[in-house]
Amino acid sequence: MPKLVLEEIAVRFGTYDALKRVSFSVEEGAFVTLLGPSGCGKTTLLNVIAGFVQPLSGQIFIDGRNVTALSPERRDTAMCFQSYALFPHLSVARNIAFGPRQKKLAQMETARRVASLLKTFELEAHAEKLPNALSGGQQQRVALARALAVAPGLVLFDEPLSNLDAKLRDQVRHEIRALQRDLGFTALYVTHDQAEALALSDTVYLLNQGVIEQAGSPRQIYFQPKTRFVADFIGAANLHSGPIVDGVMMTPFGPLQVNAADKDHALVCWRPEVVRLGGPLSGRAAESAFQGAYSDVFVTAEKETVRLQLPGRNRIVPGAAVSFAIAPEDVVLLEESDHG
Ligand code: ATP
Repeated sequence: MPKLVLEEIAVRFGTYDALKRVSFSVEEGAFVTLLGPSGCGKTTLLNVIAGFVQPLSGQIFIDGRNVTALSPERRDTAMCFQSYALFPHLSVARNIAFGPRQKKLAQMETARRVASLLKTFELEAHAEKLPNALSGGQQQRVALARALAVAPGLVLFDEPLSNLDAKLRDQVRHEIRALQRDLGFTALYVTHDQAEALALSDTVYLLNQGVIEQAGSPRQIYFQPKTRFVADFIGAANLHSGPIVDGVMMTPFGPLQVNAADKDHALVCWRPEVVRLGGPLSGRAAESAFQGAYSDVFVTAEKETVRLQLPGRNRIVPGAAVSFAIAPEDVVLLEESDHG
C-alpha cells in the first residue's frame, strides 16, 4: 500500500488557483522531492498534506486512511521548515522532547528518543543550551531531530537547508538521506534547488504553476525532459525548433540528426555535455568560461547561441571557428506544454 496518495487536490486562494488537481502517490520508504520555481505551489502542497491548508477539492490518504478532514496532529506526519522555528526559551533537549511530550509518550520513552537523537545529530554537548547559543547548522540539526522525535511515518521537509552555507548544506543533505534510509521513514522534500533534488531523490515531481509538469527518476527528468519547461529548469539545455525532414532538423549550425518521425513543427533539445568536437555542425565561439574540470563554450551561428561543455583542457578562444557533432540519441524531442 502506498504511504501517501493525493487525489485531484485543488487549492484556491481568493481567485488564484495555487494547485490544480494534483494527483500522485508515494511508496512507503521513498524519498520524493517536489521541485519547481518560486510560487509554483510546493509549500502549499506540503501544507495540504500536513493539514495546515484545507483543499478546495480532492482527497488525501495516508496509510490508506482518508485524512482530508483530520487536524494536523492526527496525521502521521512531521514538518521540518526552512526557518528552524525552534522554541527560543527551551533547551535543545526540551525542543526535541516537545513532540513526544505533546503526544503524551511515556517519560522513559521520550528520554530514550531524545538521547538517541542527540547522539545521531552529534548534539550531546549542546543538550542544555538554548537555540540562540548554537550555529545555524546546529540549529538545523536540532530542528531535524525535533521533527523526527515523534517517529513520524511521513516527514515533510520544506527547504530545510536553504539557510545553510554550501558546504554545510551538502553535509546535512547526506545526513538526511542516510537517516531516512536507516529509520525507514517516507520523505517528501520541497526544494527549488535542482542539484539537491537530483542528488537526493528516488522520484522527482516537477511542479509548474500548480500542476505536475513531469514526474520521474532524477535520470529520467534530466535525460528525458518532456517539455521545454523541464529541459530549461533542470540543468542547461540547447533548444532548436523547426521541421524534421528525413530525420534531420536544419539549424543555423547545420543539420542536426534526430531519432524521431518527420514533423512540420518540432522542438528538440540537447544537453551541453553530450557534444563531441568535429562534425557536421559549426559556429563561432563567442565566449568561453573555464570552470576547472570543464569549460563552457558559447557558440553562435546567425542569431542563435548554443552552450557546449567541454573538458577543461580544451582551449577555445573567442572568435575561433568550432565544429561539433551531437549523436541523434542525445537529441530529445519535446512536447510543448500548454501552460508556461
Ligand atoms: P517558494 O519556493 O517561493 O516558497 P512555492 O512553490 O512554495 O514557492 P507556494 O508558497 O506554495 O509556492 O505558493 C503558491 C502560490 O500561492 C503563490 O503564488 C503564492 O503567492 C500563493 N499563496 C500561497 N499562500 C497563500 C495565501 N495564504 N493566500 C494567498 N495566496 C497564497
